[in-house]
Amino acid sequence: MKVIKIDKKDWTGGLGKLSGGYRLFGPVKDKEFHVFGELAKGSLPDFAFSNTRVSAKSLVFPQTEAMFRYSLDEKQADHHIMKEADKDYSPRAVFGIRPCDAAAFLLVKRNFDNPEYKDPWWVQAYQSYTFVGLACNDPCGTCFCTTAGCGPFHEEGLDILLADAGDHFIAKVLTEKGEKLIQSAGWKSGGDAAAMAAMKKTAEGRISSTVLMDKLKGKATMSLYDAAFWEETAFACLNCGTCTFVCPTCWCFDIQDENRGTSGVRMRNWDTCMSPIFTLHGTGHNPRGTKIHRVRQRFMHKLKYYVDKYGDGIQCVGCGRCVRSCPVNIDIRKVCELMNNYDPAACACPA
Ligand code: SF4
Ligand code: SF4
Repeated sequence: MKVIKIDKKDWTGGLGKLSGGYRLFGPVKDKEFHVFGELAKGSLPDFAFSNTRVSAKSLVFPQTEAMFRYSLDEKQADHHIMKEADKDYSPRAVFGIRPCDAAAFLLVKRNFDNPEYKDPWWVQAYQSYTFVGLACNDPCGTCFCTTAGCGPFHEEGLDILLADAGDHFIAKVLTEKGEKLIQSAGWKSGGDAAAMAAMKKTAEGRISSTVLMDKLKGKATMSLYDAAFWEETAFACLNCGTCTFVCPTCWCFDIQDENRGTSGVRMRNWDTCMSPIFTLHGTGHNPRGTKIHRVRQRFMHKLKYYVDKYGDGIQCVGCGRCVRSCPVNIDIRKVCELMNNYDPAACACPA
């Protein structure tokens, strides 16, 4: 693995060279928050951020995406025939993705790209990216990545990891895609791997928030499902869906046809298991008709069903977004602790 130094005075020039072969994306300021967006020609990613408000998942899995187009005009020979919507999978590079968001793509990949099923749009979009991460020198107080299988300098899912060292970046080149990008940008000076390792140690030491998950796998699923604590956990929830929309590992979507005149488009849009109509059947029956059902579903999916299915980690990378964004302070770390420590015998009512 190669480590190089990118002097900040060579940053703009390198990005300029890359813009000939890649569409460039990165964090940009949107009012008081940062979001991922395409960089206008000559502009730089804004690295003065802790993390983006919404995760990087929308780069690969847009909040709303045209799947097919069709015509309802019976005078047209091809009316009522679905045609795949135009797509652009030309090479892209995203700068400044945090390690947790890059690792989240590997969890989400299990849903969209596995031996039984491949989502053609997710797979092609994911493959079109070169992921250039930005290590977190100063993690937020709500980040618990180190106990959620990730970390402020985590490398999985990245092609290059950058560490901001003041007047320069130290860049660890992790994949062939990363190497290609570095060569295209013309960055060549040798970097200080030991300095990067020291920065990693310091950053990991700054993570003070944790999630307790060591006993989740051993818990009986139905016992957790029936636990009394769900009522209190769900009490304050507004079912607003914020936690799922900001989460880099939530992958649910809905499909809708939108018609205008005689033309139509089949869209897929992010959906949320916190919405009462998410599971509403055509018959009117709703298997998750109360918010207790829905809150339980979100946490059981991330912290138990996923754990049972894959046996490694939880469906959470510890980015802390849901903790920061929930309007009623429902905190996945506390729910995970409740689940992890749950003992049905200790909760039984006295005879
Ligand atoms: S953000 Fe909070 S209030 Fe909104 S759905 Fe999620 S847990 Fe409920
Ligand atoms: S901390 Fe919350 S928003 Fe972040 S990955 Fe975990 S569940 Fe998703």
